[in-house]
Amino acid sequence: MILAFSPVVSAVNTEAKVNFNKTCEQLDELAYSGNDLGAVYSKENTGFKLWAPTAERVKLKLYSTGSDDEEGAELLAEHEMDYNCSNGIWSLTVRGNLHGTYYIYEVTVDGKTQQTADPYAKAAGVNGNRSMVVDLSLTDPQGWKDDSFTRVDKQTDALIWEVHIKDFSASESSGVSEKNRGKYLAFTETGTTLNGEGTIKTCVAYLKDLGINYVQINPFFDFGSVDEGGDNSQYNWGYDPVNYNVPEGSYSSNPYDGSVRIKEAKEMIKALHDNGIGVVMDVVYNHVYDAEFSCFENTVPGYYFRHDKDGKLADGSGCGNDTASERAMYRKYMVDSIIYWAQEYHIDGFRFDLMGLHDIYTMNLIRQQLNTLPDGKKILMYGEAWKLNTVSDAELAIQVNMFKLDLNIAAFNDGIRDAVKGDNFIPSVGGFVQGVLSSADVKDGIMAATMQWSQQPSQTVSYVSCHDNMTLYDKLVATTLGQGADYRARNEELVRMNKLAAVAYLTAQGIPFMLAGEEMARSKDGDHNSFKSDVELNQIDWSSLTRYSDLVKYYKGLIDIRKAYSPMRCEDKTVIGNMIFYNECSENVLGYMYQNATTDGEWDKLVCILNGGKTDQEVKLEGKDIPKSWVAIANGESAGVEKLAAFNSDSVTIKAGQALILVDEQSFNAAAVKAEKTSIDSLPDIVLASSTATKLAAEIDKKDSPVKKSLPYILGGIGLAALGAGVALIIKRRRKNRGDKHTR
Ligand code: CA
Repeated sequence: MILAFSPVVSAVNTEAKVNFNKTCEQLDELAYSGNDLGAVYSKENTGFKLWAPTAERVKLKLYSTGSDDEEGAELLAEHEMDYNCSNGIWSLTVRGNLHGTYYIYEVTVDGKTQQTADPYAKAAGVNGNRSMVVDLSLTDPQGWKDDSFTRVDKQTDALIWEVHIKDFSASESSGVSEKNRGKYLAFTETGTTLNGEGTIKTCVAYLKDLGINYVQINPFFDFGSVDEGGDNSQYNWGYDPVNYNVPEGSYSSNPYDGSVRIKEAKEMIKALHDNGIGVVMDVVYNHVYDAEFSCFENTVPGYYFRHDKDGKLADGSGCGNDTASERAMYRKYMVDSIIYWAQEYHIDGFRFDLMGLHDIYTMNLIRQQLNTLPDGKKILMYGEAWKLNTVSDAELAIQVNMFKLDLNIAAFNDGIRDAVKGDNFIPSVGGFVQGVLSSADVKDGIMAATMQWSQQPSQTVSYVSCHDNMTLYDKLVATTLGQGADYRARNEELVRMNKLAAVAYLTAQGIPFMLAGEEMARSKDGDHNSFKSDVELNQIDWSSLTRYSDLVKYYKGLIDIRKAYSPMRCEDKTVIGNMIFYNECSENVLGYMYQNATTDGEWDKLVCILNGGKTDQEVKLEGKDIPKSWVAIANGESAGVEKLAAFNSDSVTIKAGQALILVDEQSFNAAAVKAEKTSIDSLPDIVLASSTATKLAAEIDKKDSPVKKSLPYILGGIGLAALGAGVALIIKRRRKNRGDKHTR
């Protein structure tokens, strides 16, 4: 039985023609403000609402399955919907418990009839072609009501690790069970070890020990490029949205049942939360998989997308279409969708793909609406503020407009990215760490681009690698050894550069961000755009944890330093105002000193000196009333909160291509900072199968060895880089009491 419940309704829209000829701006005046679009479920009935002011007629069709190819497929019913001319809404209430019923709308506009999924669908069948009515309470995993993650107080407290669901666990080396590899449920396997051998932690267990506090997950809303009914070898990053409010089906154990993907996506999120890791969702509202056949175009043709003066779709996204965030109903759609994910899925942050295509009013509105949620002010917001060639009169969320955006909306800083490792788009061009570029642009990055476009560090994402373009290690290979080199071979010179790059952005102001596996020299064989390359190329090879254990430990050490020292995480410009940059250095050297206003249990002065050049450099420690007693906590080999060495001097020698982090000895001793020892610290050591390396390592290992005493030589690290490239490696078990090695 059908209940029509709107007072101003008819089964046809007599104003459809008039509305069809209206401009998009005029259609905006018919915008609907209610929060009941889509299928609103209760056990007794389901209310359907669709905004379609240019449609002459809309029919609702109910099905037993998500496609006609499934067993038991059946058209259950079809109903004419009722139109309300005051707000452009087609509606209908269908009695009964419709959970699990699939549906589409049949929309007639200007004489043309299209079948379409519901733009506001919360669930869908295989490949998202039909929407599904869902009782969301049935999709909650056990303990979901108590699910929580302690979000960071300020954006700059976040440490983000960007991962693709399939990359995370597709490899057998992940130790994830075969059935869950590449799926949502891989994240729920928390006792995973390398190759399932029980020794070296992988996946979520590993991440917890690494110390990052957020993962950014590449698109996991329903996208179109992978056939959910097809085989498991398919791969795509998923930047091709179909149903924005539905999780992708190919990551679920059953893409045909609309409830399963929802439940499993929630289980993934809960498992991360249970391990102290927040979830940032990568959202792609700027374009859709196929504009012509999208639910937006099918319901209100021409309205949701930008067009040029010739009527052609704008294509700033490079993906064939740009949505129009400045239109009232798409703006509302973005806000509603974000709030839905935050509330229903407990999402802790949003990364906006091509944010530069969205208008600043919409972005600020999303921020304001998130802020109204419980703990919503702590939900992260950042995106790509690139300037793109779209068609819009609106002011867009590009870097030069960051001063008009909320302080808690950040943008990726391509400045530090390119300064550190070289131009992102020209594989052969190096940057600071290869000794090619001077330190000038890195310095701007350390200040979180606040001298360029950012109002303060909370608006800046500091990074050197993400899913786009080459991985950091591949870039180092391409710039140093050439694009034909073996990208998967360990090279000491490149590992050294990698460490130097990590020091730059992990000690910088802003929000640190890394591509998954950057910390273990992840390679994609030089593929700079692997969005549809083989899964074998894209997947994380977890055995890199042993081949690059020194690098992983180095990252963990830098993360420990960052967590222990609040000035690095300052959200406003007060710390930058107190920083001292060393101006006397050579152009390949960058020195800067942090000073801590809050000495409460923390170090006071912390000096970072980065030598990107080819020669050792003596650097004078600058600053007023500068102390003479210093402790080194990071050098070219190791990093962490422990003392590597101490010295009394107002100058230090920095080895070529290495970094040094110093803390004034007095506050170092007073603060007595400790970092949690995790499985990362006990990863097997890398040992170079070279007599020189063995000798050096042995010498360092001996307490009070001559090498250790010969400061400041030791401050610059052991100089493993000098051993050259391609040295064969053997892995040995970690030395016991490594933590004691450097204490005096
Ligand atoms: Ca899909």
